[in-house]
Amino acid sequence: MQEVRRSLPIFPYREDLLAAIHEHQILVIEGETGSGKTTQIPQYLLEDVTRNSCMKIGCTQPRRVAAMSVAARVAEEMSVKLGNEVGYSIRFEDCTSERTVLKYMTDGMLLREFLTEPDLASYSVIIIDEAHERTLHTDILFGLIKDIARFRPDLKVLVASATLDTERFSCFFDDAPVFRIPGRRFPVDIFYTKAPEADYLEACVVSVLQIHVTQSPGDILVFLTGQEEIEACCELLQERCRRLGSKIAELLVLPIYANLPSDMQAKIFNPTPPGARKVVVATNIAETSLTIDGIIYVIDPGFCKQKSYNARTGMESLIVTPCSRASANQRAGRAGRVAAGKCFRLYTAWAFKHEMEETTVPEIQRTNLGNVVLLLKSLGINDLIHFDFMDPPPHETLVLALEQLYALGALNHLGELTKLGRRMAELPVDPMLSKMILASEQYKCSEEVLTIAAMLSVNNSIFYRPKDKVVHADNARMNFVVPGGDHLVLLNVYTQSGHSTQWCYENFIQFRSMRRARDVRDQLEGLMDRIEVEVVSSQEDSVPIRKVTGYFYHTARLSKGGYKTVKHQQTVYVHPNSSLFEEQPRWLIYHELVFTTKEFMRQVIEIESSWLLEVAPHYYKSKELEDSSSKKMPRKQGKTKEELG
Ligand code: ADP
Ligand code: MG
Repeated sequence: MQEVRRSLPIFPYREDLLAAIHEHQILVIEGETGSGKTTQIPQYLLEDVTRNSCMKIGCTQPRRVAAMSVAARVAEEMSVKLGNEVGYSIRFEDCTSERTVLKYMTDGMLLREFLTEPDLASYSVIIIDEAHERTLHTDILFGLIKDIARFRPDLKVLVASATLDTERFSCFFDDAPVFRIPGRRFPVDIFYTKAPEADYLEACVVSVLQIHVTQSPGDILVFLTGQEEIEACCELLQERCRRLGSKIAELLVLPIYANLPSDMQAKIFNPTPPGARKVVVATNIAETSLTIDGIIYVIDPGFCKQKSYNARTGMESLIVTPCSRASANQRAGRAGRVAAGKCFRLYTAWAFKHEMEETTVPEIQRTNLGNVVLLLKSLGINDLIHFDFMDPPPHETLVLALEQLYALGALNHLGELTKLGRRMAELPVDPMLSKMILASEQYKCSEEVLTIAAMLSVNNSIFYRPKDKVVHADNARMNFVVPGGDHLVLLNVYTQSGHSTQWCYENFIQFRSMRRARDVRDQLEGLMDRIEVEVVSSQEDSVPIRKVTGYFYHTARLSKGGYKTVKHQQTVYVHPNSSLFEEQPRWLIYHELVFTTKEFMRQVIEIESSWLLEVAPHYYKSKELEDSSSKKMPRKQGKTKEELG
């Protein structure tokens, strides 16, 4: 392993790099994916005898999977137990101890550390890694860290990035020098399709098999957009390989995506046995965050799943869109790390030139900012318009976030943080969930609300619906339906489960999600003391629960052909998976609004309009809540195939 360390492209630059870090407070480090930035730089710093050993090195990662996996790798390289000297911290999971000197963490976790330690006093070095990903949290960290670096001259800041955008980072950090690690790149031949592919999933499967049968040894990396696609692709590949039997060499099919259990994730790093070939089917996590050795062939359908946000209506959507040319080039680069490689782009050269954007729009410009605004306000940053953003968010997005926080009572009419807002910021969940937890105190149902909040945080992965057992799965799900809505169904599932694997299996409930929900719940319960909320049960009365699960910001009323949101008059629909899909009650609260084939409300609960005046008199006027119709609208349609898809 020490030999592997010495063979990495970064190794010859070890001394120069350490010297540059000594000389400059802020350094931008640019290097190809796989050159050793994430795993080696922190170790070089630890090995440096002049370092102050009482202080920590922090290294941020945009993705949970990457934080866990690199921490495990580095602990192994240093022959220490993960969680001791080297640890990681991701939301709801802290694998560090008093002894931890090197801490990998998600960018969101470091952001939260500002709440308890505004000058990051326990750190001597902060590495903002994968800076080119430009996630919302990384962008906010840029502004905060630039600020504290001014009054903490002893703090070293390293901004590490793949070979993208480094000039901009340097410029933002007052012309910090850029340290370039020359890549060792082999040429990659790029092939395009002659015509667009109608079904890129099928095209991926065919391409993998073609490479496997016709091309010389070397592993394959396929980029898809998410868990479902990846699972479907892996199934298809396995099935076709089974059919071909011993006519072809062994093909190991390995998925990797954020929700994959970590023991399965670790498998992608195992060396391929001689005679066999490995195909890794990945989300864009394998674009730059994880490096898999031995890849010679890359298959790139040219898509990614991207979040976008409508600041007028507050609707988020997660849509499969063409990736940027910068992404496509990173993907291709994965094929040339160990030898000359090939990249098969499943789109035309014309599409590459004309249909793809140059770079990806930073997340801060296409997401809800409620959470981040609450955090910044808690840090005493009141003037958000003049915050040092590398790229500022759209004005309307900021305004909507402020409006949302005002509605929840976290800000007063002057936009200042309230006492409630301060307590809300203590909880590592979205403002609406933290509001709900705090409100549960008054309504004496915190026991139930904690469970609901935990179940909502593991979002949409509770019910298992395998393709070959759809009817059984749907029947099992029906058994959990209770009057009132989806939040109460989730509560019911949690209460009944008893955390038994057998029970989950029999009831088509995903055990892993339940286990995670329990962990989240335990953590939230642990925080109740700090925010001074007593944990009490409502004793089977659903009214108080429905009053607070409302958090009363996302309200919709039944209207012709669907629902209309109360504040924005937007037409929306109950998601077909909801327990209230058939019933269509007159007033609803929804947990989230997502666009898939239509504007769907996901996780809805039935309320009475009069409650809105009771719990949010500052936000609703009785005129808005008058019932226009005197009786329930008739149900209009059954589920269409499209809606179920
Ligand atoms: P960079 O951050 O520059 O992209 P890394 O430090 O992540 O590079 O990776 C350097 C090398 O460390 C990789 O080429 C790979 O050989 C090895 N490596 C990184 N993570 C793992 C892991 N989880 N398991 C096995 N090897 C790994
Ligand atoms: Mg890295």
